[in-house]
Amino acid sequence: WPYNTLLEADEFINDNVISLSNFIGGQFTNDSFSNSVKQLDSFEPATGRLLYTLPCTSPAQVDAAIGFARAAFPSWSKTSRAERSAILQKISQLIRENRELFAVWESMDQGKTLKRARIEVDRAISNFSYFSTFILHEQTAARMVDGVALTYEHRSPAGVFALISPWNMPLYLLTWKIAPCIAFGCTAVAKPSEVTSMSAFLLAGIFQKAGLPKGVVNVIFGDGAITGHSLVSSPLIDGVSFTGGTETGIAIRRATAHQISKHLSLELGGKNPTLVFADSMSPSTRERTIRIAATAAFENQGEICLCGSRIYVQRSVYDEFMSEYTKYVAENYVVGDTVGAVASLQHYNKIRRYLLIAEAEKATFHLGQVPPSLLEGRDYGGYWIQPTVLTGVHKTSSVQIDEIFGPVVTITPFEDEDEAIRLANDSQYGLAAVLLTTDGARMRRVGEQLQAGLVWINCWLVRELGTPFGGMKNSGTGREGGEHSRDVFTVVRTLHLPS
Ligand code: NAD
Repeated sequence: WPYNTLLEADEFINDNVISLSNFIGGQFTNDSFSNSVKQLDSFEPATGRLLYTLPCTSPAQVDAAIGFARAAFPSWSKTSRAERSAILQKISQLIRENRELFAVWESMDQGKTLKRARIEVDRAISNFSYFSTFILHEQTAARMVDGVALTYEHRSPAGVFALISPWNMPLYLLTWKIAPCIAFGCTAVAKPSEVTSMSAFLLAGIFQKAGLPKGVVNVIFGDGAITGHSLVSSPLIDGVSFTGGTETGIAIRRATAHQISKHLSLELGGKNPTLVFADSMSPSTRERTIRIAATAAFENQGEICLCGSRIYVQRSVYDEFMSEYTKYVAENYVVGDTVGAVASLQHYNKIRRYLLIAEAEKATFHLGQVPPSLLEGRDYGGYWIQPTVLTGVHKTSSVQIDEIFGPVVTITPFEDEDEAIRLANDSQYGLAAVLLTTDGARMRRVGEQLQAGLVWINCWLVRELGTPFGGMKNSGTGREGGEHSRDVFTVVRTLHLPS
């Protein structure tokens, strides 16, 4: 196992299978080895073999983890910014020292390519280093009111948070929550997805090595229905930062509706449009347009919430785009090489169901096909799906409406700007959009009308960690990043001092 360098593997190996343990109060617990705890299995997407087991943490154990986070809060919230900054730097440094270990495990656990996994580990490193310096330089507003009173904002840590992440970018997304949470003086109970829990387990080892005081971050494992639900709905949790599907976001809102003061940041699903205007297919920009539209669709097997899975192309360049695009995707997105396996058997079956619908509705498959059905519990060689390019999908088809979250893209022609905007906005989601054009006025004119929290113009996935990240419509509530994360993890009071 590429494992011993960070943790003593023997301690966690049971019957030759690694069993992940919760990390509560600064210690790995023995719950996962006890017969009284329900176990969950996690499989390697590339092969379908059992990779490790994890506990499905019970409501009583969730309460115990929350108890440790609450006990740690008074002293952690009073530590100086300099102390917190130093610990975040140390965590960042330790992840860097173990970069390859994290990348190998993340790739095995999630199915992503090693190249992609390395990019995400680097981002996890930056998440900690970014917030370690942010808190040293942050400023709060002070102003005079009519010359008679000085007012200023005072912020304090909001309390104990539930931090819940999905399976598509496990370490990257969980650290995007943990880093600001502890930087702003809060404590946490973090739960990764039951599908991809390994990097959170390794991260807990880093917290121990970095000397993070016990209870500041507790990492627990388990499913959504039992573990996740009891965590978010506990009255002892002051806030929830959640990334995952829209249906789960709605369930969390319902479960916490009566807890008015609970901070909720919900980063949810997307079905993002990519708009290709004719001017972007000029000889000097064609290659860039094709590359961006392909990368945005197929990076990480299409398993990024920001992927552009609905491509709209201006009719005058539609034929040219189709032939260049399919050629580019076929050459550059090769299963087993630049395209990884999809995250789980359940997800494989979901994507397959949509491809069966496309087939039944007589869509044209320019690339890809309906993959074979796979049986549960057999070593069938993994969950592989070829990049799939579809046309002729009707706008009312579930293939066009639902978030498939896999390597599947639909391509539809449009006539003019108005129609492009209408089609792009014709979705319950509003997370991201890609706009490909060389017309400067159009960049703003169209970009400002797109119903999306993030609009990328002639680029994709460019991120500056201080800019607001989040979605419109059913893609979420709240924004994270820089001072927006500060809004999530702090409470603000305004003080008025008469002069
Ligand atoms: P999911 O909603 O099924 O699960 C996400 C997490 O929530 C998991 O840890 C799960 O155990 C937990 N969970 C499930 N039910 C719960 C409940 N009732 N209460 C509390 N926790 C619960 O999502 P997924 O299938 O793991 O991830 C895919 C989804 O995540 C896609 O919709 C994708 O778009 C979205 N996503 C969004 C962003 C973003 O930034 N907006 C980023 C990545 C992924």
